[in-house]
Amino acid sequence: MMELEISPPECPPDQKPVLRNAAAYPASAKSPLLFELSVPGRLGVSLPKCDVPETPLPAALLRENLGLPELDEGSVVRHFTALSAKNFSIDGNFYPLGSCTMKYNPKMNEEAASLRGWRRTHPLLPETAVQGALDLLYRLQESLKAITGFPAFSLQAAAGAQGELAGALMIRAYHRDRGDLKRKRILIPDSAHGTNPATCTMAGFTAETIPSDARGAVDMEALIAACAGEKAGTLAGLMITNPGTLGLFEERIREIIAAVHRAGGLVYGDGANMNALIGVLKPADLGFDVMHLNLHKTFSTPHGGGGPGAGAVGAGALLAEYLPGPAAVRAGGAFTLKTPGKSIGRLKAFNGNFGVLVRAYAYIRHLGREGIRRVAEYSVLNANYLKHLTGGAYPPAYGAERPCMHEFAASPQLGNGVSTVDIAKRLIDYGFHPPTVYFPLIVREALMIEPTETETKETLEAFAAALLAIAAEAKNSPELLKTAPHHTPVGRLDETAAARKPALRYTGPAANGMNKEI
Ligand SMILES: *Cc1c(COP(=O)(O)O)cnc(C)c1O
Repeated sequence: MMELEISPPECPPDQKPVLRNAAAYPASAKSPLLFELSVPGRLGVSLPKCDVPETPLPAALLRENLGLPELDEGSVVRHFTALSAKNFSIDGNFYPLGSCTMKYNPKMNEEAASLRGWRRTHPLLPETAVQGALDLLYRLQESLKAITGFPAFSLQAAAGAQGELAGALMIRAYHRDRGDLKRKRILIPDSAHGTNPATCTMAGFTAETIPSDARGAVDMEALIAACAGEKAGTLAGLMITNPGTLGLFEERIREIIAAVHRAGGLVYGDGANMNALIGVLKPADLGFDVMHLNLHKTFSTPHGGGGPGAGAVGAGALLAEYLPGPAAVRAGGAFTLKTPGKSIGRLKAFNGNFGVLVRAYAYIRHLGREGIRRVAEYSVLNANYLKHLTGGAYPPAYGAERPCMHEFAASPQLGNGVSTVDIAKRLIDYGFHPPTVYFPLIVREALMIEPTETETKETLEAFAAALLAIAAEAKNSPELLKTAPHHTPVGRLDETAAARKPALRYTGPAANGMNKEI
């Protein structure tokens, strides 16, 4: 029998962090023997008696020893349950990851998405047999049109980045159709998400950086210069995020869009995080030509670990005919699938990530018009409350003097050589998932915090208290931060080595040599 050393998670002297995950399996923190549970001869399955004649198998396929661990069923279930509980998740912990919208994902959505009728619908069924599914796609498109003001939507894209690529390809197709082949430049603010220049480049454009000004807004002079004179003829468009990744509303957005339009360019809106605006402001009214929404952020689908997403793309009059297809349309009393006339084509098999679309629809219907507006109000209120509570030690790099939107990018300078990564690691000890770090790139030591609208006042206050406690620790015992985390199954990892030389397979004694690198 192996011995497990049982001990409660340790708490910092003056804090009682909520370490729900670690507490779920306290022994694991101490036990390097977690995987060594195998006992020769122990069995976790019972097979029915063989009711067909036994046939000899080719000797080449048989092995003496498979090296599989031998365990009873209960131990296996506990083992995997314990492993699952070691991860941070939105169901277990506050997860204030800026630019990611890790909000509560209502269980009702999961129930809706797992209804037998949706789950068991084969994508190759004829349209007559899937009228309900097409009806849902149609209604979701209509809801997104109402929320954003765009006259047309495509639900094809499987992620925000794929939505961006679609938009960039649509802009390219538009210019080509007009014989305007010289338009190759897309302007992108320096605070942009990395996918923006990546997708524009993939679509064949040259990404051109526009600097931010001292207020964290687009530098108007630089923008106007990039759209002026001879440069106007080569301008394909602008890709811009509003609110920007600094969590600030782009106050001169109408002027910016007008400048690009005057030069003959089109404007792409990165709407991955629309929490601050939905129900309050329609982006189409600002003049955007095309925009994607991350349904797996703003419209609630769990997306930690790169789970399935949906980057719905909305387009204005100039680009609607270029949207990816097919989309659900109503023809007479029935629903059918149709691809717009000048479509850039298909982005994904069948009809996008249908399960995510069901969740988004359930979420929108559940909230209704009023509820959608409250999402925006509370996401902004929560972010501003947190900014207010923590501002002393964690001042925002830009926009300290004006309200932020659904998130803010703090620029902590705690001294004693404490860096943002140390703060992030220490937060784990306090039971919180770290915010986004070192993004946006223009913020020194960026700590980008998005509380989301679904968090309670108590959670926000507990998180602020942890951040302030960490600021005090930075003064008095900086080593504590530089060596954090201390209460996790493994301590600080060598993240570079983890990425470059990942150990993907268990190679301990119980592996019996089966998992040796081959
Ligand atoms: C998340 C995000 C994206 C990309 O979305 P994916 O679904 O991860 O591809 C693009 N822009 C911004 C601002 C984002 O926050």
